[in-house]
Amino acid sequence: MSAVEACSATNLPAFRNEPYVDFSDPATRRAAEDALKSVRGEFGREYDLLIAGRRVRAADKLRSLNPSHPAEVVGVHSRADAALANEAVEAAWRGFPQWSVTPARRRVEMLLHAAGILRRRKFEFDAWLVVEAGKTWPEAEADVSEAIDFCEYYARQMMRLADAPALVQLPGERDELVYIPLGPGVIIPPWNFPLAILVGMATAALVTGNTVVVKPSSDTPTIAQKFAEVLLEAGFPGDSFSLLVGSGSEIGDLLVQHPRTRFVSFTGSRDVGLRINELAAKPQKGQTWIRRVVAEMGGKDAIVVDSDADVDAAVKGVLVSAFGYQGQKCSACSRAIVDGAIYDEFLEKLQQSVSVIRVGPSEDSANYMGPVINERAKSSILRYVDAGRSEGRLIAGGGAGEGEGYFIQPTVIADVAPTARVFREEIFGPVLAVTKARDFDHALELAYDTEYGLTGAVFTNDSAKIQKARERFFVGNLYFNRKCTGAMVGAHPFGGFNMSGTDSKAGGPDYLLQFVQGKAIAEKTS
Ligand code: NAP
Repeated sequence: MSAVEACSATNLPAFRNEPYVDFSDPATRRAAEDALKSVRGEFGREYDLLIAGRRVRAADKLRSLNPSHPAEVVGVHSRADAALANEAVEAAWRGFPQWSVTPARRRVEMLLHAAGILRRRKFEFDAWLVVEAGKTWPEAEADVSEAIDFCEYYARQMMRLADAPALVQLPGERDELVYIPLGPGVIIPPWNFPLAILVGMATAALVTGNTVVVKPSSDTPTIAQKFAEVLLEAGFPGDSFSLLVGSGSEIGDLLVQHPRTRFVSFTGSRDVGLRINELAAKPQKGQTWIRRVVAEMGGKDAIVVDSDADVDAAVKGVLVSAFGYQGQKCSACSRAIVDGAIYDEFLEKLQQSVSVIRVGPSEDSANYMGPVINERAKSSILRYVDAGRSEGRLIAGGGAGEGEGYFIQPTVIADVAPTARVFREEIFGPVLAVTKARDFDHALELAYDTEYGLTGAVFTNDSAKIQKARERFFVGNLYFNRKCTGAMVGAHPFGGFNMSGTDSKAGGPDYLLQFVQGKAIAEKTS
């Protein structure tokens, strides 16, 4: 029996989601404030690139800023050029033979160790997310908890995968199917879940035996650097991964097209995802495989509110989904589609609830919304708000928030037609379009009148309508009588249809299959 076969999932307790800390508890609050102070003490620190365990200082630097106070430099990062990007992929190629035969159980142990380190450093990671990604405390806590969940969940899934599935045994043969890693891969996460998504994508590839080059978002490189420290401390060998801070537009094509790149795991916008998919499809000189692409992309997610819905619950669900983390979630509700019979009541209650939302620096827990990620995002969102003024009726917000940070008021535009840009395009900010539907069927039609298909929710008390929506609402993650954000690892495998991506279902039982290939082996025994 090989070391891999010796692994058994029974060694581990059942997976359970990491509980969130309670910031209303005075001791927890103090710990959070201390962590923030300590993280602030590290502001402006210089970070090197990490190429297969070797620290490399580049002349070119990238500065990450605190979006609540953009004058504050969170970290100064060496920025990779094409030569260093090339070197990182070559290093992943060289590291692959050793890492790919490291027993699955060893890789799983390292991943569980990484989960433990994240747990121990939770307040510190929360604080980095507050200052570099502009997350409020509860949003940061959810991000870090999800990162821990990914480590714990994928560790268990790897144990399952390492147990060869039972096959039909032909007489006189031993027949088996084993899953082997693909090869060196490139991991490209976005900034909006700068820890959870990076951790999920990178550890899924690593625990299945692939070596990786991680290219974090240029907005959140410090958080990525901190996680690289965790991987090393957890025992992942230096040459199993590289952390390559650099501009996607400068080194992205090279990483994707490199003949040694066996797969690309990407999460980000539709346009970049499509570009990666196109470039990856073209074989390069010396390339001996069809490159695999896992791409999770944007959304234009809708919540349908039926005539018999609990309007208060619907308003709450829409509000949390539209304005949590400033609407910067791929799962965020950017369209509320409401039955005409309750439209006015819904709008009135929504307007009231939105009017009391506080916007300001994310470290101040009195603020429900913090800043958007950067100046470019702020300008782009405000352009959509301007377009929305002529495409509908502005009933809340409509401009920048007060203060030096990248703040935007929670904005609601009512009476929006399905042809409007604010109805069709992903804005990725705190802007909600509300559209009136004639009846439930019309509402459903409007909801799936989009090129995206990520999340959706329906508020109704009618079981026949629930059944109809189950059949017709074409999204990867569908929810009833609750918000459309907040997918939990293990319970809500996450990924979208159509232009929302390849539906990889992160945090689900099939996710690791994208990072392996099956090898069927038959041995004549008599
Ligand atoms: P983005 O602009 O597409 O960037 C994502 C990543 O791609 C970043 O690391 C970026 O690096 C890199 N990149 C940019 N150009 C590239 C290129 N030509 N080749 C290779 N990599 C390149 O997206 P974002 O603004 O970070 O994230 C927001 C988007 O992500 C939204 O559309 C959101 O819906 C989507 N999202 C989807 C999911 C999901 O699960 N479906 C989850 C979260 C977010 P730089 O930072 O250096 O440009």
